[in-house]
Amino acid sequence: MIPFNKPYLTGKETAYIEDAVNRGKISGNGYYTKKCQHFFEEKFNFKKALLTTSCTDALEMCAMLANIEQGDEVIVPSFTFVSSALAFVRQGAIIKFADSYSNNPNIDPSRIEELITKKTKAIVVVHYAGVACDMDAIMAIANKHGLIVIEDAAQAICSKYEGKLLGSIGHMSTFSFHETKNIISGEGGLLVINDDRFVDRAEILWEKGTNRAEFFRGKIDKYGWVDTGSSFLPSDIIAAFLWAQLENIDAIQKKRLEHWHFYYSELAEWAKSVDVQLMPKPIEETNNGHMFYIICNSLNQRKRIIDYLLKNKILAVFHYISLHSSKYYIKKHDGRTLINSDKFTERLLRLPMFYELNPNDVTQTIKKFK
Ligand SMILES: *Cc1c(COP(=O)(O)O)cnc(C)c1O
Repeated sequence: MIPFNKPYLTGKETAYIEDAVNRGKISGNGYYTKKCQHFFEEKFNFKKALLTTSCTDALEMCAMLANIEQGDEVIVPSFTFVSSALAFVRQGAIIKFADSYSNNPNIDPSRIEELITKKTKAIVVVHYAGVACDMDAIMAIANKHGLIVIEDAAQAICSKYEGKLLGSIGHMSTFSFHETKNIISGEGGLLVINDDRFVDRAEILWEKGTNRAEFFRGKIDKYGWVDTGSSFLPSDIIAAFLWAQLENIDAIQKKRLEHWHFYYSELAEWAKSVDVQLMPKPIEETNNGHMFYIICNSLNQRKRIIDYLLKNKILAVFHYISLHSSKYYIKKHDGRTLINSDKFTERLLRLPMFYELNPNDVTQTIKKFK
C-alpha cells in the first residue's frame, strides 16, 4: 500500500528526548523549547515565537490576544480545518465565512470587504497547501478597517510571499507540527507574534495567566495571577523531538518539493486531456511541497478515482467539508452560498505526499492515474 502520509523521523528524535530527560527539566519552556523558539526568531525573523501543544492552541491564544468577545465577528474561509474557526467560536465569536478563489482554496480578498460590519474584529487567513494568500490586499483591507489579521500558517512552513516568510506578515500567526505536516512533533504548534502590542500578554496567556516568564528573567521578584490564559506550553520532550526535525528542515523541504515537481511535470499533459485540473502551479517561493492536489470535474469522478487507486493500493484522499455547512455551524450560518468552497469540498483530491515517498511510488501513482 502506498499511504497518503507517513511521518518522517530524521533519526535524532529519541537521542534528543533522552538528552532532555537527562537534563532533569522536562516541563515547558526548557532547554529545547528555547532552542526551537530561538531558531524561529533568528532564522525566520519572527518577532516572538512561542511553542504550543498544537496549532489549535496557538489559534486559541490568538483569539484571546485579539480580545474576541461574545458577539464579535471574525471572517474565516469556509474551506479550512475546524480549528481556524473553532478557536474564535470558543470566545463567543460569530463567524462570517468567506469564499475561496475559483481556482484555489485560499480566501478571495475581493469578497472580504462585503462581510465587514461594525462588529468585525479580525480576519483569519489560511495559506492552503502552503501557498500564500494575497497578503498585500488582505493587509490593506485590515488596515483600512482597523482589523487584526491572523495567519493560519499550519501548512505553510518555509513558504514566502514577496520575499517574506508566511507567518511574518499578519499581526500574529500559527503553525502546526501535527504528524501530517512537513515538520512534526506528533502534536505540536507555534504561535508567532509580529506586533509589539501583543508580545508581553502572549507570554502571560501561555503560562496560565501568570507573569512567570518575567519572573524567570529576573524582572519582578514574585509571580502571580494577572490575566486569563491556559497551559499552552508543551513539555520539553516534545520540543526535543521538534529540534531533530528543525535541524533537517532544509533537506525535508527539498525532498518534498522534488516529489511535487515530479507529480506536476508528469501529470500536466494528461490532466488537460481528461478534464481534470492540477493545483495551480505556485511560483517557487510559495511552494513548500506540503501537498499535491487535483480538482476533479465532479464528485462522481473523484469517487471513481479514489476507488480505482484504492484497488491498486494507493491511498488518495479528499479534504475539508465547508465549515459553513458543517453540522455544528450550519444553524448559525447566515445562509449565503459559497460556491467555490463547496466546489473544493466535492472535487479536491490529494495524492500521496511525504518525505519517504520513493520515486517508484510516485511513478506508480502517476501510471495508475493515467
Ligand atoms: C493542521 C491544521 C490545523 C490544526 O493543527 P493542530 O496542530 O492539529 O491543532 C489548523 N489549521 C490548518 C489549516 C491545518 O492544516
